[in-house]
Amino acid sequence: MGDSTDIFGNEPADDETPPSAAELEAAGQAGLFGAAPATPPATDALPWATGPAEVATPASVEAPAPVAIPAPVPPPAPAPGQAKQPYRVLARKYRPRTFAELIGQDAMVQTLANAIRRDRLAHAFLMTGVRGVGKTSTARLIAKALNCIGPDGNGGPTIDPCGQCEPCVAIAEGRHIDVIEMDAASHTGVDDVREIIEAVRYAAVSARYKIYIIDEVHMLSRNAFNALLKTLEEPPAHVKFLFATTESDKLPVTVMSSCQRFDLRRISTPLLAQHFAGICVKEAVVADDEALAMIAAAAEGSVRDGLSILDQAIAHADLDGDGRVSAGQVRDMLGLADKSVQRRLFAALLAGEGPALLELVAAQFALGVEPQALLRGAMELTHRVTVTRIGGGSMADAASAEERDAIEGWAGALSAGQLHRLWQLLLKGFDEVRTAPDPLVAAQMALLRVMHASDLPDPGQLVKKLEDIASRAPMAGAEAGVGQGGASAPTSAAPAASLDWRAVVDQVDRSGQMMLASTMRMQVRVVELRHGVLRFSQPPGFREDITADLRAGLAKATGERWQVERCDDAGAPTLVELEQSAKAAGEAAIRAAPLVELTLAAFPGAELLDEEQDAPRQAGNRNWSRQR
Ligand SMILES: [Zn+2]
Repeated sequence: MGDSTDIFGNEPADDETPPSAAELEAAGQAGLFGAAPATPPATDALPWATGPAEVATPASVEAPAPVAIPAPVPPPAPAPGQAKQPYRVLARKYRPRTFAELIGQDAMVQTLANAIRRDRLAHAFLMTGVRGVGKTSTARLIAKALNCIGPDGNGGPTIDPCGQCEPCVAIAEGRHIDVIEMDAASHTGVDDVREIIEAVRYAAVSARYKIYIIDEVHMLSRNAFNALLKTLEEPPAHVKFLFATTESDKLPVTVMSSCQRFDLRRISTPLLAQHFAGICVKEAVVADDEALAMIAAAAEGSVRDGLSILDQAIAHADLDGDGRVSAGQVRDMLGLADKSVQRRLFAALLAGEGPALLELVAAQFALGVEPQALLRGAMELTHRVTVTRIGGGSMADAASAEERDAIEGWAGALSAGQLHRLWQLLLKGFDEVRTAPDPLVAAQMALLRVMHASDLPDPGQLVKKLEDIASRAPMAGAEAGVGQGGASAPTSAAPAASLDWRAVVDQVDRSGQMMLASTMRMQVRVVELRHGVLRFSQPPGFREDITADLRAGLAKATGERWQVERCDDAGAPTLVELEQSAKAAGEAAIRAAPLVELTLAAFPGAELLDEEQDAPRQAGNRNWSRQR
């Protein structure tokens, strides 16, 4: 610690102790249950970090092996919510003791077995993977494998350490003098590494190999890495380094390249469930398959997280009386991983049940479920439904029969287009919730938006239907005629006369009197029109007497004298009124077309728009669908 010259880019505050891996994990696990961690769990108590520190100091490294001393196993610090558990936490109790017990990492074990058999062991190993997949356990297993001497004391390195010899026992208990565990999260500085480098020069005290297990190695400072690198490149033959990290991308390339790398996989949900079932048998705990499947799903590939949840589930089951871990209890306990709530939420989204949707969101929030988790749950369902729809994926990891039925039902009912749109909307909502000042409100808005969109037809289908309509609509509009004109337009009285009138107006227009022609189209309701005679009225709102203008204009256009007279008779609609009513009739015909009727029903509040016409004045309602 305290290496103030460190300039490791990823660690701005070198002198401050960064949160330890255990603390980080405690925070993560606590987040799962919506409770603040009171104390970090020390399920991975590393001797140097939290256990009997003497074991790892250089002084004691050179001291004689304290073989006779009983194992100074530090009492495990209680994990959150488990302070009163009398038994060891499951994650600790069922830490794998052999490679056979290490689940889900077959490829790595095979590679390692081959290396041991051929005596081609690297001098440094790097274990990467998400938390709780068994990196530290693997490191200890490798330490055992390398140092096991067999029950008779004559064995060599083996992929199948005996678990009985002194090195095996001591390593399992974390007290072997030649196996030094260090948590880089709390020992980031160059001084810590110097201690290692100094000690490396000395031979192993009692074991075949001196083994350094450095957890969360990416947290070492740059200087610490540089100091370590020299040793790493030319290590003494009796030294092995086992590094573990959750973030291998933060490691210097030089370090990576000098290690044999093992990427530990997330453990599949079915395998986890199976593993937990086996542990329940050993613990004499009765647990529903569905409950274990839910715990496995919530564990997200981490054995340790899953076992923490199982611990809590067993504690809850004991409290409730019958000691049986039931699906209902686990559902209540987890909140987050409650598949049935997720399905209800998804169903409410699709059904457009706004009040039910908001109620669910509020109830889940009250239970401590993060708003973001609700969107994530809906996204997971969307993904599963989509995969199911194309016939891919298996239903093997469905937590329950209800889940299987629901997903298959949705897969049959939703189109691919709808599912992809659903995904896009949820993803957008997920991002919004993450950055919003009030995640709950953002989640409500995002889900309501999805809900409003979910009943829209698939754009692909819609386009097809509209194309069908487009091929029929013009005819329908033409046939509809002017008879069913808009309410404000007068009924057509004399189409023949108006046709003549149209010709007269065109003639005026062509004579260069465009203003007058415009006035004639707009203001003249023809009452009587024959050669040289025009009687007309004006629509309401036009008061200016245009008689003289008309007389002059008509004379100029036709070269004849016109008798023009204004009267109060109704007359035929003006040309403009005729156009308007024709258009209204066309729209009415289009609206009446069955598919358009359906479309308008599907887009509540939608309007028919001319292409040239501006966007609707009351933009904002439902307008998002046009922006897509
Ligand atoms: Zn052994």
